[in-house]
Amino acid sequence: MSVVVGSLLELDHSYARELPGLSVPWTAALVPAPALLMQNEELATELGADPEALREPDGVALLVGNAVPDGVRPVAQAYAGHQFGGYVPRLGDGRALLLGELIDGRGRRRDLHLKGSGRTPFARGGDGKAAVGPMLREYVIGEAMHALGIPTSRALAVVATGEQVARETMLPGAVLARVAASHLRIGTFQYAANSGDPALVRTLADYAIARHHPDAAEAQNPYLEFYQRVIDVQASLVARWMLIGFVHGVMNTDNMTISGESIDYGPCAFMDHFDPATVFSSIDHGGRYAYGNQPGIAQWNLAQLGETLLPLIDENTDAAVEAAADAVSSFAELYEHYWTTGMATKLGLDTPDRLLIQDLLALLHTQRVDFTQFFRALSSHLRGHPARSLFTEPEAFDAWVARWQALLPRDRDAVAAAMNQVNPVYVPRNHRVEEALTAATNGDIAPFRRLVDVISHPFTQRPGLEDYAQPAPTSCGPYVTYCGT
Ligand code: AMP
Ligand code: MG
Repeated sequence: MSVVVGSLLELDHSYARELPGLSVPWTAALVPAPALLMQNEELATELGADPEALREPDGVALLVGNAVPDGVRPVAQAYAGHQFGGYVPRLGDGRALLLGELIDGRGRRRDLHLKGSGRTPFARGGDGKAAVGPMLREYVIGEAMHALGIPTSRALAVVATGEQVARETMLPGAVLARVAASHLRIGTFQYAANSGDPALVRTLADYAIARHHPDAAEAQNPYLEFYQRVIDVQASLVARWMLIGFVHGVMNTDNMTISGESIDYGPCAFMDHFDPATVFSSIDHGGRYAYGNQPGIAQWNLAQLGETLLPLIDENTDAAVEAAADAVSSFAELYEHYWTTGMATKLGLDTPDRLLIQDLLALLHTQRVDFTQFFRALSSHLRGHPARSLFTEPEAFDAWVARWQALLPRDRDAVAAAMNQVNPVYVPRNHRVEEALTAATNGDIAPFRRLVDVISHPFTQRPGLEDYAQPAPTSCGPYVTYCGT
């Protein structure tokens, strides 16, 4: 059962249809002067849409929520969540809407979602709006993650609204249209579990299994298997973040998906010099969501998911608790596996060497070496360009590099080439992101477009882009990001 929206997009509404207790029908606030700021042509094409038609006024009206074509029934999704460890029973889409679901060219069901589209019944005190800068940040970070091969939601478009939104200053408003495998969150399960309707978690779990982990339905205990699958995809995802130096910044349970995609890029950023204590978010005073805490937080969040599934896992509560506890403790081993094999690949090694990796990270930490630059310098090292200049005390690196080289396969050029396939030259550097967002806020989108182009091809060094491969100059000071903007 799907509807055709003119010739633009075909949308279905399985979530709203099958889980009526988990959303509220709602429409976007009208905006005065929609103007397309960014369009993701590649993604539009992948979705089976015509990018040119989406750029026309009817297309832009759809992407900003101004036009609700016949048959389309947008909803605000309900969810709960642990925010910085404290449980909030009712969060939900305060400024976002699920327009519907598309079936892409590969037959995959994907949500089309608007963010910044006006107040909903979940808005609490918020204005329901979003500013150009944060929506473009979500665009560029999602594209970077995608190009790095990390599962992620992606922006389809950012449309300026022609309105000003009140933050610390008045800022130009925007709506982000984004695409995700789904917006099922751990917080969706928490909301269902606390709804007072015991059947709702089961319906939600059945829906999530069918949509994301269909093989689990065949298992002896489908709900336990489903839980194990979510643990697995999240262990893999967070390992990928760690391998690339990414700090999500707000790993609340409402920002963690069942699909295993990264979602809700708010105060996130990439680390320059390696330091497990790296925190960018202005509100994360205790460092709860610091770089090095991310695996532990993911596991804690997954334990919250497990709690919602207990009645489905076993009628006997003790047995359910034991099975769920076993499953969530497997996170540590899974994470370790994904992370160490990933580190081995970054280092060009056939098999991981835990001690070698540990010693390297200690070196990078104490000598404040740029995480991204280091791995490219290491492959260059194999091609005769010593990497020791990145270190203030290079003797310690010399000793490490000798141990590393002793473990490498024979064909050094092939090793270097393989390393360059997984270690990016370009990530969205904080000062570059800031510069591009500031320019866009002031009406010049060109630096942002250039940045998106740079990070969309992260593994290929291109002449003229040397500056994009550099960490922020120390004159920029510590980088701070802001939530809920
Ligand atoms: P986030 O930090 O973006 O994950 O959002 C956390 C919660 O706050 C979600 O329920 C959002 O919908 C809500 N929220 C954030 N900003 C706004 C806003 N400007 N207006 C209404 N709700 C908001
Ligand atoms: Mg969120």
